[in-house]
Amino acid sequence: MIERTLCIIKPDAVAKNVSGNILAMIQNAGFKVLGMKMIRLTPAQAGAFYEVHKERPFYQDLINYMISGPIIPVALEKDNAVEDYRKLIGATNPQNADAGTVRKLYGESIEKNAVHGSDSGENGIIEIAFFFPKAELSANE
Ligand code: ADP
Ligand code: MG
Repeated sequence: MIERTLCIIKPDAVAKNVSGNILAMIQNAGFKVLGMKMIRLTPAQAGAFYEVHKERPFYQDLINYMISGPIIPVALEKDNAVEDYRKLIGATNPQNADAGTVRKLYGESIEKNAVHGSDSGENGIIEIAFFFPKAELSANE
């Protein structure tokens, strides 16, 4: 089934200048880029994006990290996108991620783990809409 998922290249990966490498991995894996931009989040935006984690002890740290520098949200589409993208990026903690995954290659810690990925097709649509008005997505859509 054709699905959409949101990638965010997080501040640590943008700062390390590996955004292009990560995008190449994503495109080589067959994902279509529907939208992409480099932005800086406000604390309120970061808090809203990660609202689902607001009761977790790492919530405030996560917000501080996500506003620490520019990020690159990328709207992706592919058959089985959610599962295939999560396989490509690897486990949340880079130490537990499989060899050759984005997080293994570029993540620094369980927090500074280089990229975001949606956890379901439903959330993929919602998260893409958080960053991209419909008019900004690929003209084919
Ligand atoms: P994922 O990004 O793999 O879907 P989660 O949704 O569980 O992982 O967490 C969202 C983000 O919060 C992670 O990508 C990571 O940046 C951060 N995070 C998750 N767990 C921890 C933790 N135990 N300590 C610090 N930061 C964490
Ligand atoms: Mg998640």
